[in-house]
Amino acid sequence: MHLDCQKFDSSTLKKWFLSEKRDLPWRETRDPYAIWVSEIMLQQTQVSVVIPYFERWMQAFPTIESLALSSLDKVIKMWEGLGYYSRARNLHEGAKFVLLEFDGKLPDSEFELQKIKGIGPYTVGAIMSFAFHKRKAAVDGNVIRVLARLFYVQDDIAKPKTVQTIREIAEAILPEDESWIVTEALIELGATVCTKKPKCMSCPLKASCKAFLRGEADVLPFKSTKITIESLFRNVAVVIAENRLLVRRCKADEIMSDLYEFPFIEAKSLTDDQTLELSQFLKLPLIKIRDLGEVNHSFTRFRVKLNAALFTAEKRKQVKDYEWLSMDELEQCAFSSGHRRLFHQVKILILDKFVIDLV
Ligand code: SF4
Repeated sequence: MHLDCQKFDSSTLKKWFLSEKRDLPWRETRDPYAIWVSEIMLQQTQVSVVIPYFERWMQAFPTIESLALSSLDKVIKMWEGLGYYSRARNLHEGAKFVLLEFDGKLPDSEFELQKIKGIGPYTVGAIMSFAFHKRKAAVDGNVIRVLARLFYVQDDIAKPKTVQTIREIAEAILPEDESWIVTEALIELGATVCTKKPKCMSCPLKASCKAFLRGEADVLPFKSTKITIESLFRNVAVVIAENRLLVRRCKADEIMSDLYEFPFIEAKSLTDDQTLELSQFLKLPLIKIRDLGEVNHSFTRFRVKLNAALFTAEKRKQVKDYEWLSMDELEQCAFSSGHRRLFHQVKILILDKFVIDLV
């Protein structure tokens, strides 16, 4: 292993990266805070999706202090649509902690960075390397894939021991000079060339890649656990009365915590008319205006089909756990993604004056 690491051709990788790297806004800065934000956004999310969010975020919260002093509602609103909202909550919590403990500046110490909420080993590595130019690897899923193939690691990457082995390889192959370029180059290679279906013929490291030389590039790495995808069906009532819509802010212990959703009931499959069941569920007699059709969205391991209809109610009665909000108020709320699309549909209907006489 150590012999292989010593032979690693970091200069070829570095040259390739410097000529092929994508221009990304967070690569134009060494601001540790901007790098922290970008790395958190990039977890589970594609680069092209992250770019506009990152730019908007840095305008809204240009410093750790401005983020720390913002309301959680504003933070969640800025994150709306990116998913995995615990990332936004942790950034907010982390910023408050950094303001209090480190005078608003991210520390250049692994030990201190680990104390900040939401900053795990990968993000520590990224901040130490890209912002502070320390000799530190940042091992994410991309880097695990690249190194498992390059060094022919056949063990199960679902096991912490295998990940630890790969982390050790990653640290060992970094050069003394400009190590941060190689750290980033490994990530870039995994994101653009050594992808799930590797493009080995375009790879700068193919001459020394063990998996490629054995013809096994596309079978590595081995991962034993597969996430089981679960399907959910939900019948949704978008209820409008006296120009206000009925919504609920999800509680802190729910997956969609702090996001707004319209009332819904779970179903075994999508059914045509749920007026009676939804009326009983809300203890509010509903009158159906029209179907809103089917909206698909997904979160974590769930694929959700929303079957929605627009209703009105004779009276704007109090419904436990729900509130009636105006369109202006709803514009300021962060919705979960499927419910955000339903809200847009209703807005268009209202603008088209389709429902105005009915409510
Ligand atoms: S040769 Fe293929 S498998 Fe090996 S590092 Fe390059 S892209 Fe990945």
